[in-house]
Amino acid sequence: MPAQIIDGKALAESVRAALRARVAALAARGVRPGLAAILAGADPASRVYVRNKVRACEDTGLHSEVHEFPEPVSEGELLQRIAKLNADPRIHGVLVQLPLPGELDANRVLAAIAPAKDADGFHAESLGALVQGRPGFVPGTPAGVMALLEHAGVPLAGRHAVIVGRSTIVGKPAALLLLQKDATVTICHSKTPDLAAVTRQADILVAAVGRAKLVTAGMVKPGACVIDVGINRGADGKLAGDVDFEAVKEIAGWITPVPGGVGPMTVAMLLVNTVKAAEQTLG
Ligand code: NAD
Repeated sequence: MPAQIIDGKALAESVRAALRARVAALAARGVRPGLAAILAGADPASRVYVRNKVRACEDTGLHSEVHEFPEPVSEGELLQRIAKLNADPRIHGVLVQLPLPGELDANRVLAAIAPAKDADGFHAESLGALVQGRPGFVPGTPAGVMALLEHAGVPLAGRHAVIVGRSTIVGKPAALLLLQKDATVTICHSKTPDLAAVTRQADILVAAVGRAKLVTAGMVKPGACVIDVGINRGADGKLAGDVDFEAVKEIAGWITPVPGGVGPMTVAMLLVNTVKAAEQTLG
């Protein structure tokens, strides 16, 4: 039986519908949640991501603003702007679109964001809270992965989750969130020998690498849940994930498409964090 396709676009829309009610409740108390995005350099993919975030804010009733810094841009300029946004009462969430151009140190720039406004959840305080199991801002992509799993009713406790990719924004936080749900977690990466032998053991397989068709049907256990985080643009301009969707959907129990899977959820969870930050200003 072919896999159940988990519709991230529809789930993101229902998350946003629930947010609109919270935005209305905030408006009644004189607060409009605001998100500021810092866009440094001219990376075309970053531009598209920031544009999608702005559209999602508009659609959900949030205020948003984009702070553009054409190259060459210095760390000092970014830190100065972040300090201003930290102090701006109209702004509840500040994000720095990654990757940063040139030699800029992303960790130093992210550290300048006030932890109370860390809508992306990439500040060391947010990531530390995640490690310690304290409440805090969870990065949007792994939070979106967890929401998709929960929505589809995929059992997690005691199951083996394998994550391919160990980045700080996807793979590592996804591993921590799955651990919190009592999964047994394995993280694979570019130096993992015989990747297929590990992925074939996965009840839940999360692919977050950035290589089209890395995950083939032979790497998937029948009935497994396959979550495809990858975004790859083919020579034909079309988006594809890291999973060979057409072949794997015949074997998996559940699968997310690209586009229309994790991507829309990432943006929805960013808005959730921004609204939460605005609510926290009211205590
Ligand atoms: P990254 O480049 O920081 O990390 C990639 C990871 O893949 C690394 O840990 C590396 O060790 C691992 N890797 C590379 N080659 C491998 C191989 N052959 N076998 C096993 N592991 C390998 O990337 P990232 O920022 O985590 O993003 C990963 C992918 O997810 C990209 O395609 C990115 O565009 C996409 N992404 C999507 C969303 C979304 O909203 N859907 C959000 C963030 C990232």
